[in-house]
Amino acid sequence: MDELIYKLESSHEEIKIPENLVFGRTFTTHVFEMDYIADEGGWKNPTIKKFSDVNLSPAALVFHYGQAIFEGLKAYKQENGSIVMFRPEKNLERLNNSARKMCIPEIDIDFVLNAMTELVKIEKDWVPSKPGHSLYIRPVVFATDPFLGVKPGDNYKFIIILSPVGPYYAEGFKPVPIMVTDKFVRAVRGGVGDCKTAGNYAASLLAQKEAKKLGFTQVLYLDALEQKYIEEVGTMNMFVQFKDEVATPKLSGTILPGITRMSVLEILKEWGYNVNERDIALHEIIDSYNKGNLVELFGTGTAAVISSISKLKYNDVELQFSNEHAGELGTKLYDELTGIQYGRIEDRHNWLTKVI
Ligand SMILES: *Cc1c(COP(=O)(O)O)cnc(C)c1O
Repeated sequence: MDELIYKLESSHEEIKIPENLVFGRTFTTHVFEMDYIADEGGWKNPTIKKFSDVNLSPAALVFHYGQAIFEGLKAYKQENGSIVMFRPEKNLERLNNSARKMCIPEIDIDFVLNAMTELVKIEKDWVPSKPGHSLYIRPVVFATDPFLGVKPGDNYKFIIILSPVGPYYAEGFKPVPIMVTDKFVRAVRGGVGDCKTAGNYAASLLAQKEAKKLGFTQVLYLDALEQKYIEEVGTMNMFVQFKDEVATPKLSGTILPGITRMSVLEILKEWGYNVNERDIALHEIIDSYNKGNLVELFGTGTAAVISSISKLKYNDVELQFSNEHAGELGTKLYDELTGIQYGRIEDRHNWLTKVI
């Protein structure tokens, strides 16, 4: 790999982070970019440069056949002024997993992690210090060849863009209503449900739109084969707390292997909970609720960390939890994870990568 090139803007202007940050609308001054050029044998020109538009042919493969993958993680400013990233190597491993499945060339994890760290360091004044704020990090890779045949590209662009973001729940940690769909499916076994690839999200928009119209925040998908087992919610993994167990759907290739999910599993085991990754039938959840054995439901993901569920609706069945207060376990997990991220709780698992 070539050495990292710096083409920095000489900045005379003071960086002003907007007061009311809307997720993903504000971008920092610089990006990291590199190109995959098959003719030149791999990834080339790794550069930190000014954020700018990308110049692509209308025939670029990505526009037609969707060869695009991405990741999402965050950098946090801690109370002592340090800036840290949460398990970034896991995101890059997952990016390479998505790459393999989408016939996109893999990246060198150590090199990219170093470039990502350098980029965040250069953009350190963009990391908000207000409570619950962070710097969202979005790596994306896409095929650039101007060619109309269906085939894996020979040329790709890798870009990391950064976006300062506010807390997911502007009005505090509030539970959200979720609708179970048996009309739409998200992924099938043998497919690409375990990849963060563009098409999965395009395919989820209609279900999401219909749920919104009915007053629900997100959709909970069932397995595509039998429509019997729960899978995941929009961009969150699902956890179910029964009286004597905490369960989450196992990774069988149809759900995204969330890094928050992985972290929650480790914390719950450490806390001594009976935790299982297994098939969870929707009717098991409904039966448990009716018998008084269901404690709470929550989703996990980088954006919200923990999303407590106020209501789960499936056709005529409605499971009602508190509208006002997040569940006890979800709250405990939220406090633990954000505590580690913002440095209030010791990073005993070595999950943080220090930027400065
Ligand atoms: C990103 C994502 C998640 C959550 O993953 P994290 O690594 O915890 O942020 C869950 N489901 C889907 C479909 C996703 O895209």
